Parts: sequence; structure tokens; C-alpha cells
Amino acid sequence: MPGKKNIPPLKKEFPALSRKISKKAIIYLDSACTALKMKSAAREQSDFLLKFGGCAGKRSVHLLSREVEAEFCAARKAIALFIGAKSPEEIVFTSGTTEALNIAAASFPFKKGAEVILSPLEHNSVFLPFYRLSKLGKIKLRIIPLKDFKPDFSAYKKMLNAKTALVCVTRASNVFGGAVDIKKFINAAHKNGAKVFVDAAQYIPTHKENVSGLNADMLAFSGHKMGAPFGIGVLYIKKSLFKSLNSSKLGGGTVKEIAYKGGSYKVDFFKNNAVYEAGIQNYSGAAALRKSFEVLNKIGYQNIRARIQEIVQYACAKLSSFEKIRVLGNRAELKNGSIVSFICENPRFSIVDFNIFLNEYSSKHFVAVRCGRHCADLAVLNSDIKSTIRLSFFIYSSKRDIDVFCVALGAYLKSLS
Ligand code: PLP
Repeated sequence: MPGKKNIPPLKKEFPALSRKISKKAIIYLDSACTALKMKSAAREQSDFLLKFGGCAGKRSVHLLSREVEAEFCAARKAIALFIGAKSPEEIVFTSGTTEALNIAAASFPFKKGAEVILSPLEHNSVFLPFYRLSKLGKIKLRIIPLKDFKPDFSAYKKMLNAKTALVCVTRASNVFGGAVDIKKFINAAHKNGAKVFVDAAQYIPTHKENVSGLNADMLAFSGHKMGAPFGIGVLYIKKSLFKSLNSSKLGGGTVKEIAYKGGSYKVDFFKNNAVYEAGIQNYSGAAALRKSFEVLNKIGYQNIRARIQEIVQYACAKLSSFEKIRVLGNRAELKNGSIVSFICENPRFSIVDFNIFLNEYSSKHFVAVRCGRHCADLAVLNSDIKSTIRLSFFIYSSKRDIDVFCVALGAYLKSLS
């Protein structure tokens, strides 16, 4: 396997892989939902919590607080570098992609009649905040048609108009896999004067991204999908955008000064990332996220991609050998992502029964996959597919996982005949 020698002992880095459930080994094929957690990142978080006191943000100025401020700044700086942001100030720490999207939707300065275009692959965490704005009459929501499991670029170009304020595109679908060539979507939006939000939740964990090169205006991802703890994520905001956004969540740490002048209070808010990080933050989570980036960088993204590409191709080939199994998406493009989704065209196939079967069938293995709509109802409703069975991979995944899964799939299919 290419790059294998550069991948550290993963069983040590992911202790959950050594767990047994009812004496069965775990075959974890649900990393797109949430990845197993890295020991280094978990250690970083617990060491941080046990060592440091105080808060960052220059509120308290005693030594303990200054230490936390320094650690938080270092995490911000490192993560800015990892994703190619031009400045650490472009990094806003959030609890995850969902919070980032809610912040973006509530902070964007929509003018009367503004239109927001969403790709048809968007997760509900993208769709719902904008759906609510559309129901409140604040925006008009438009969805790009789906073509060959991807947003139809020609149709999209025709949808862009003078009222388009924002376009949201997912970098990699959590339903159909692959990766979207979003640069052309971004360029077309910019030519039209619109801003672009990129949902990179399924991309950042296994790809090297450069947000400045991509020229995204905003981009979000979640730490828990890349081995970091739950409750930490990033909203990247291009520096030039700060002056026009209005933060939706205010509180401690978001103001330069509050004064009482001429009979009323005057508040001078920050016009940078600080205004999006109201209150005490998840400092230990930020440090742990930095650690998970360090681990991924040490492994090397070329090695990660080579390994996952091989697994994706292997899974496609093995699944396709079953009668009535249809792998979704374009085979040549699937290898650019970390997911393989499929359906079974046998009407007796039940995803509920299959899920139970996967847990019960083998005496040696417990197999975890995800079946359903994957919280991306737009993608499913815009296609002729009701639900999918999704295999998703991270750096610990292996071809053996696919072999074990396929034995169980074969046995289940046989039980239907
Ligand atoms: N966007 C995509 C493409 C996702 O796959 C997910 C989660 O599965 C999200 C957004 C939401 O991420 P989170 O639940 O970490 O906020």
C-alpha cells in the first residue's frame, strides 16, 4: 500500500480500534458521521484541562490566563497555517460545522430580495438555517439541480443574478462521496459579486486544503470528524469580509468598549474574529484540534489520500461484484473522496434489517456503517434514491474492513433469496 511505511501504528493512536463489543472486534465504517478519536488529541485535551487555569481573551491578566491566551493563540496560528489562511484572525473557533453555518446565516448582511443558492448536496446544517431565513421572508432560497450526483454547473451559472448574495457549496458530499470541483463555482459567484460559503466537513479530515488558494469567503469543518474531540470546529472567514458581517452571538470578549455618552450606552464591537467568539471558549478543544492536524500532517496527506483512494476503489470493485448492488456516483471521481455509498435494487432488502444483521451476523466482528438519508435530505430528495448504505473511511480504515463487510453483505443477500 503506498505510503504504508509512513503511517504510524494506528492501533495505538486509535485505542477504540482495540475495543471489543460483546467479544467482537470493531469494524468502523462510519467515520463520515464521526471519526474514532486520536489518543494524542485526547491526551492534549486532558493535559490542557488538568494543567491550565484561567481564560483567554485578555479578560483576566494573571499569569494563568496569559498562559491560556498564549496556547489559544498558538492553536489558532497553527490551524490557520494548516488550512492556508492568510492570518490567524481568519479563524473563528466554533463547536463544529453546524454552529459555523448558523453563525454565517445569521451574520450575513442580506439586503431585501437577496437570493441564496445552495448546492443540492448540502447537509441539513446548511439547508435549515437558510430555510428558516427564507420562511421569514429575509432571503429567497434556490437549489442547484443535481446532475450525475453533483451540482449542475451550467444550471448554476444560469441561476446567478444580481440578487445572488451568497452561494453554499459542499466540498465533499456526505451522501454520495467524491469531491466537488468547487473552484469554478466560487469563481462564477465572485464574477457575479456573490460570496461563497464552503462546507468542508467531509473534506478537511482527509485532504490538504488551502482556503486562500480556493478563494472561499467562508469555510467550515468539525474537529470530531478528524480524530479531535467533540465540540470544537472552525469557521474560516476571509479577513475582508469581517467589516460587512454582523455577529449573531454577542457577549464577553466581543467588545472593545462600552461607554455611557449623551444619555445612552454606546458599544464599540470588535470587527474581527473576536466578535464571533462570545464568552469562554473551548480552549482545550482548540489545542486538541491542533494536535490532530499535527498527526495528520506527520502521516502526510499524500499518504492519507493514497491509502483512502485504494480503499475506495477496492470497495467499489467488491461491491459491484454483487448482483443488484449499485454503487452511487461516478467511479472515476469517487476516489477523490472518502465515502462509498450504495443501494440494493432487490425490493426485499431492508436497511433496518441489514443494520441489525451487521451487528449480529459475525461472532468475530461488529460492523458499524450508516444507512439512511445521512441528514442530507436535499441530496436524497433531488435524486431518485430514497436512502443509501454508506461506508466511510478515515486513516485507520483498511481493505480488510471491506472484506469483513462484504462477507456480511453477501450472507444477508443470500438470506433474501
Ligand atoms: N456538513 C456535512 C457535509 C456533514 O457531513 C456534517 C455532519 O455529518 C455536517 C455538515 C455537520 O457537522 P457537525 O454535526 O459536526 O456540526
